[in-house]
Amino acid sequence: MERKKMKVVIIGGVAAGPKTAARLRRLNPDAEITIIERGKLLSYAGCGMPYFVSGDVPEWKKLTDTPAGVVRDTVFFQNVKGIRVLNRTLAETIDRNNKTVTVVHVETGEKQALPYDKLVLATGGMPVHLPVEGVGLNNVFRLWQAEDALSMNKALSMGTLKKAVIIGGGLIGVEMTEALTKRGLQVTLVEMLPHLLPGLLDPETAVFLTRYLRSQGVEVHCGERVSCLKGDDRGNVEKVVTTRTEIPADIALVSIGVRPNSKLASDAGLQIGKSGNILVNDYLQTSDPAIYAGGDCVQNIHLLTGKPVFAPMGSTANKHGRVIANNLMGMEEKFKGILATAVVKAFDYNVGKTGLTETQAREAGFDPVTCLMPSSDIPHFYPHARQVFLKLIADRKTRKILGAQVAGPGEGVKRIDVLATAITFGATVDDLPGIDLGYAPPYATAIDIAAHAANVLRNKIEGLAFTLTPMEVKAMVDRGEDFIWLDVRSPDEFKQKRIEDQRVKLIPLGMLSRRLEELSKDKKIVPFCKISLRGYEAQTLLTGAGFKDVQFMDGGIEAWPYEGISEK
Ligand SMILES: Cc1cc2nc3c(=O)[nH]c(=O)nc-3n(C[C@H](O)[C@H](O)[C@H](O)COP(=O)(O)OP(=O)(O)OC[C@H]3O[C@@H](n4cnc5c(N)ncnc54)[C@H](O)[C@@H]3O)c2cc1C
Repeated sequence: MERKKMKVVIIGGVAAGPKTAARLRRLNPDAEITIIERGKLLSYAGCGMPYFVSGDVPEWKKLTDTPAGVVRDTVFFQNVKGIRVLNRTLAETIDRNNKTVTVVHVETGEKQALPYDKLVLATGGMPVHLPVEGVGLNNVFRLWQAEDALSMNKALSMGTLKKAVIIGGGLIGVEMTEALTKRGLQVTLVEMLPHLLPGLLDPETAVFLTRYLRSQGVEVHCGERVSCLKGDDRGNVEKVVTTRTEIPADIALVSIGVRPNSKLASDAGLQIGKSGNILVNDYLQTSDPAIYAGGDCVQNIHLLTGKPVFAPMGSTANKHGRVIANNLMGMEEKFKGILATAVVKAFDYNVGKTGLTETQAREAGFDPVTCLMPSSDIPHFYPHARQVFLKLIADRKTRKILGAQVAGPGEGVKRIDVLATAITFGATVDDLPGIDLGYAPPYATAIDIAAHAANVLRNKIEGLAFTLTPMEVKAMVDRGEDFIWLDVRSPDEFKQKRIEDQRVKLIPLGMLSRRLEELSKDKKIVPFCKISLRGYEAQTLLTGAGFKDVQFMDGGIEAWPYEGISEK
């Protein structure tokens, strides 16, 4: 094929599609590039929709403009990029033998067959349908495409809607919790699984988010399945009925996940993976070498497990677009895979994850060792230091870092990005503390919390530190186990904030060696302090003094996410 004159048809005009087109145009000024998009709008910042609904982005136009303020519409693509866009046009069928795509204009019904040398599928995903009665009522929304955000905003602008129920505690559900609260609504978030962000966080990290959202006035119901939505006699939603309760609702948002949009590909006989994604090779080429695919519609490979993973993200879709364009030009670039990194803002809380959760690591056959580290994001003496809870996970055998999660008002997302980079390059817990990260008090601590957490994991792997997570201690409490919950902080700290439980005994660390006779050697001892540095020291002191069953509580009282804390 004469490269310069290649005809490239791209189906899908939001993220992966336009990215492919733009890169291809830069590489090949002579290619004939056509984007087919069912919707009216294209190349808009879909990830910005929650911030449009919240009012943080004051007008819709901002999501469709270039940074220079030019709207990215069909005219812009044609005039500035030399890319033809057929919007309001649906790609109906692909004829692989004749290399044509049949498209139909969704308003006029006019059909045409477009020839291609190379075809790119960037058909994205679709929201998972909630299969219960009442989802068709008025004021029940989903947030998938531009039209959804615009019509939701219109409904909210009337000012009559007061109570919102968000069904689904994933990324979009959490973002929209903030958005709707900011619009003055009382929000209830309902999640079917036992905790929020179930694919992203382990329970003990998620519980911080739940506690924080409740502190912002949001009602959070986890472990509850929605059984139906009920409406009034005008067909407006009135309540959301769950397996446990009925929640009044003037507006409901269904955000229970995304599935790949791969029907066009499967109808054309392309290979499809188990979760319905289009199968692609390392070059993002489908089972037909003339057809590439990228974005939410394809199956990715997880960099740590080497197994297929579905993690539909705009970050990945954009990377795919560039790789596809390079490969269309014969540059043979591989897309190596993903870590399913995701970050999300909830009011003033920053939440994120990269790599595997502890649960996913175990399921994948690793032997995970974990540490939960509550810490200040910058030195405590510098103004505006804020707390971050970091969970770091590594494999006991290979010592490789497997994953990290953060939650808290502090700068956790920077740590997620550092750890995503480290994991991508195969870093171990021994490599991480040696990385030359930047330090100055306004930005970080001298030993960054990520490095500090890696050192804790090294201690654990080497048998120097024995810990229990707050979840494990909570389970012991719930089972009514008899153990000594040894608070080794100062009496002042104890007065300020303490765990109210009869098992708790205060012996400040400085007095511990002189008061050993107050502790029974027959009982399990669980020392802790504020973040459990002193808890760790208490553990070494006690084991050195012959106590056999000592495990300090990971993260100390700061990482205790449950009820039962009294604070002055
Ligand atoms: C509210 C919201 C917030 C998000 N926030 C983030 C975030 O913060 N970070 C992040 O990384 N990701 C985020 N995402 C996910 C991100 O938007 C998607 O991963 C990304 O848009 C996927 O890009 P894509 O090009 O693969 O598919 P899409 O963006 O889904 O675009 C596919 C397009 O193809 C069109 N199409 C499909 N079939 C046909 C056909 N047969 N003919 C013509 N056109 C067709 C569709 O109309 C659609 O416009 C968010 C998503 C939503 C909905």
